[in-house]
Amino acid sequence: MSGRVTILTGGVGGAKLVLGLCHAIPADTVTAIVNTGDDFRHLGLSISPDIDTLLYTLSGKANAAQGWGREGESWSFMDAVRSLGGEDWFQLGDGDLALHVLRSERLRTGDPLSAIIADFAAAWGIAAPMLPMTDDVVATKVETNEGLLDFQHYFVRRRCEPVVRSIRFEGATAARPGPGVIKALSNPDCEAVLIAPSNPFLSVDPILSVPGIREALAGSRAPVIAVSPIVSGKAVKGPTAKMMTELGLDISAAAVADHYAGVIDAMLVDERDPPQDLAIPSARADTLMTTLHDRIRVARTALDLAASVRR
Ligand code: GDP
Repeated sequence: MSGRVTILTGGVGGAKLVLGLCHAIPADTVTAIVNTGDDFRHLGLSISPDIDTLLYTLSGKANAAQGWGREGESWSFMDAVRSLGGEDWFQLGDGDLALHVLRSERLRTGDPLSAIIADFAAAWGIAAPMLPMTDDVVATKVETNEGLLDFQHYFVRRRCEPVVRSIRFEGATAARPGPGVIKALSNPDCEAVLIAPSNPFLSVDPILSVPGIREALAGSRAPVIAVSPIVSGKAVKGPTAKMMTELGLDISAAAVADHYAGVIDAMLVDERDPPQDLAIPSARADTLMTTLHDRIRVARTALDLAASVRR
């Protein structure tokens, strides 16, 4: 692959593939378009969970065992908040806090999120451009059997227990793609667009909800390849499978491919899943990304599939 690769991604599941890509090909040829539908304000701070997961993962600071946050984190701030009777359902480590304080202050003075993230990425030596899907506010809301919940209330506070009926992205219709997003999808030297094995409903749909992004994907000369988040008929982590059941879908790569109909040209399906009846080309492989070696292998396999599916 001699051109550029663009990847649409959420947090933990997606970051694994982005890291693999950054080792499979030169990192500065990888552009990540990142979900900001999870972003929220908490204790007066602006928090961007998926972007921060990517920042930590690509700079080697992620806490791999925990699956979120920073390695070697300390928790004095959280302990102090708790001792004062403050809300403690969303964990904010001391190092993590630095990111939120600096981001909040710069947003307050009018800097766009994209510029702030570019500066953080540069400070930590991240070569791959990381683009927020938008600089505007888009907020994922989950309609559940307990009523309409803000995303983090559903995801963290209520641990994804409520039954999901539908999902909406408030602010999306008025949002504009972040700087560089449309170019990264429609650039003539973009050779492949990947959709990471992120949660289709909570991490990828918010990106697709920003006007212009779906159209840019449809118009791209590069093939669009999704990596299935379903392994052995289950999600590797998180509520993807539970949500699929609640939304009346099969838990299968085919159901994910149907969900992306009109957006993707091919899908990488996990070899543990039964053969799928897909309307688009597909390849089967081990997509479980436990080690760095796995991540690079899955990235290469997805790029090979892209190379075989010319538009
Ligand atoms: P979040 O923002 O932290 O929830 O993470 P994402 O939305 O990026 O990813 C969650 C999805 O990633 C889940 O549906 C998982 O099944 C999927 N996932 C996580 N790790 C892997 C993996 O190693 N392989 C595959 N194929 N999917 C994975």
